[in-house]
Amino acid sequence: MTEKPTVALVSLGCPKNLVDSEVMLGLLEQAGYSIVEDTEQAQVLIVNTCAFIAPAEQEAVEAILDVAELKETGQLKALICAGCLPQRHLDSIRDELPEVDVFLTPGAVDQVVEAVQLALKGQREVIKSPLTYIYNAETPRWRSTPQWLAYLKVAEGCNNRCSFCTVPSLRGPYRSRPVDDIRDELASLVEEGVWEVCLIAQDTTNYGHDLEPPASLVQLLDELPTRDYDGWIRIMYMYPSRVSEALIEAVARADAVVPYFDIPFQHVASAVLRQMRRPGNTESYLRLINQIRQIIPKAALRTTFIVGFPGETEQDFQLLLDCVQEARFDRLAVFRYWPEPGTAAAKLPDQVPEEVANQRQEELYSVQEDISLANNERLVGQRLRVLVERELEEGDGWAGRSYRDAPEIDGEVIIYAEDNNTLELGKFVWAKVEKAQVHDLEVVVATD
Ligand code: SF4
Repeated sequence: MTEKPTVALVSLGCPKNLVDSEVMLGLLEQAGYSIVEDTEQAQVLIVNTCAFIAPAEQEAVEAILDVAELKETGQLKALICAGCLPQRHLDSIRDELPEVDVFLTPGAVDQVVEAVQLALKGQREVIKSPLTYIYNAETPRWRSTPQWLAYLKVAEGCNNRCSFCTVPSLRGPYRSRPVDDIRDELASLVEEGVWEVCLIAQDTTNYGHDLEPPASLVQLLDELPTRDYDGWIRIMYMYPSRVSEALIEAVARADAVVPYFDIPFQHVASAVLRQMRRPGNTESYLRLINQIRQIIPKAALRTTFIVGFPGETEQDFQLLLDCVQEARFDRLAVFRYWPEPGTAAAKLPDQVPEEVANQRQEELYSVQEDISLANNERLVGQRLRVLVERELEEGDGWAGRSYRDAPEIDGEVIIYAEDNNTLELGKFVWAKVEKAQVHDLEVVVATD
C-alpha cells in the first residue's frame, strides 16, 4: 500500500480558527496522513485563513502565494485554502487564486480528507457546506499548542449583529456543544496533561441558549469538574451585557476557573455604541467593572476598543479616555476601525480619517501604559502562581504567565530561580513579584 503524503498546515487568525486547524489535522492523521510542522517537508499544504478585516485577508493571500511557490520545486502536490477567506469570497475565490487546488469553507471542516483526495487527483473544487458544523469530544484533534495549553471551543457562530463585524456571515448562527460533550473533552484534555484550558467562542456568555433544554455558561461552569482540577480554566470573549452577577459568582466559586474577565466593550460612548449596534454605555460598563471587583477583588480585566468608528467625535473619544482612566483595565487592546464591505457600518456617514484614528489609537495606548505599569507595581511583594512556558536565552531565567495573562495576547512573567534551581516547562511554580514592567512582571521563585 502506497504511503500517504505528508501534510502541513498554516493556521491564521483567532484561536477558534486554530481549533478548526487542529480538527482538520486530527481527521487527516486518523485517515493515515502523517503530519509535519515544516511546510518545506509537506506534500500537501493547508492554509486555514482569516478574513474578518482587510489586513487579515491580505495576510491570508500572501501566505497562500508564499507556500504556492513550493509547487515549483515539485515538493508540493496539493494546496488547500480553508477558513474564512473562501467563505467570504465564495463566488470569486476560485478565479482569484488559481494557485489553490481545493477550497474548504468553515462549514466543511469535517470534509478535509475528501478535499485532500480531490486535490491529489488534480481536481479544483470549492467545497462548501451550511455553517452548521461544530466538532465534538470524539473528533480527533492534532493539538498544535504547547502540551500544557489547549483551547476548547464551547460554541461556534454568532447571533449578535455588531454593525462593523463580518464574523456572523463567515461563521453562521450560534451553535453550542452540549454540556456533557464539553465535560468529556475537558476530561480527555486533563488526562493528556493540559494545565490550562481556554474556553472560547465568538461570545462565550451566550453559551447554551440554543440547546434543548437551554443551558447557560453559569450551568456549564457549575457542571464542569473544576473542584479536582489543579489547572486553570480561562474564559475568553464575554459579551458585556451578558456578564451577569450570577456569572461573576460562578467564576468566584469554581476553583479552577481563573478570575480573568475578557470583555470586549469596543467603545463606551452611547452614540457610538448605538451605531455599533451594541448595548451599554459608560455608566453601565463602569458599574459592571465595579461589580466584578466587589465580588472578586483580585479579578483581572481585559478589554478591546475600536477607535475611528464612523461618527466618533472628539467628545466621544474623550469619554473613552476618561473611562479608561477610571476603569484601570489590566489588559487593553485598541483596534483602528476598518470599513468592511458588506457591513452596515461601512455605509455610515462621517467616516473618520485614518490619521485621526491612528492618533486616537496611540493616545489610548499611551494612557493605558501608565495604568498597566501602576497595576503591575501594586503586585510587587505579592506571591503569584505562574505557569512556566519557556526558557530564556543564555539561561537567563524563564518566562511564563500568571492568571492575569491569556496566551499570546497579554503580558508575560519573567521568572528567576534562586540557587539556579531548574524549572520544568508546563508546570506551575509559586513566585514572589520583585519588579513591575509596563506589561510584564519579574518574579523570583520562592524556595520556601
Ligand atoms: S459579538 Fe459582535 S463583534 Fe463579536 S463576533 Fe459577534 S457580531 Fe462580531
